[in-house]
Amino acid sequence: MFMVDYFERAKIRFWEKVKKDGPEDCWIWLSVINHEGYGRLWFLGRFNQAHRLSWEFTNGPIPEGRFVCHKCDNPTCVNPAHLFLGTNEENMMDCFQKGRRSKSGARLKPPEVEEIRRRYSNKEASSHKMAKEYGVSKTQILRIVKNRCWQHIEKGLDLAYGNYQVVTNERFPRTRQRHR
Ligand SMILES: [Zn+2]
Repeated sequence: MFMVDYFERAKIRFWEKVKKDGPEDCWIWLSVINHEGYGRLWFLGRFNQAHRLSWEFTNGPIPEGRFVCHKCDNPTCVNPAHLFLGTNEENMMDCFQKGRRSKSGARLKPPEVEEIRRRYSNKEASSHKMAKEYGVSKTQILRIVKNRCWQHIEKGLDLAYGNYQVVTNERFPRTRQRHR
């Protein structure tokens, strides 16, 4: 009985922190956001990502080894209609797809990724500014500078995108130096 109450109360607490718009729109998480832009909430003794909780509150527990991914490129969104269950691979692919430029559909080139990381770490340009310059979302810039996405590609997706193999060998010199 205690668990049922806890769960129900957590659900209420959860949806109170969401700005619900139309069923098609992104529903924005209004409370704490982590460094990657995902909402978070204390639940069952630890911080949980808000979009994962949204999926669970709507559909039940997330099956082991599966990931909750966004159809929209909006990590703060918790609209269950914008979330889908993916495998790790799909999660990576999803990430990868979102590396495409919104306007031209072209991918960021590896030298640009390097440049974005360098400029960000030298504090030459904000993620907001670079998002505009490179024609990608701010989220994508943050993923790149936090080493998400592109690190995935380095580790595995280069097999799926054959030619990336060549590029990755020289693309991440910094990652390697860090381990020396
Ligand atoms: Zn959304």
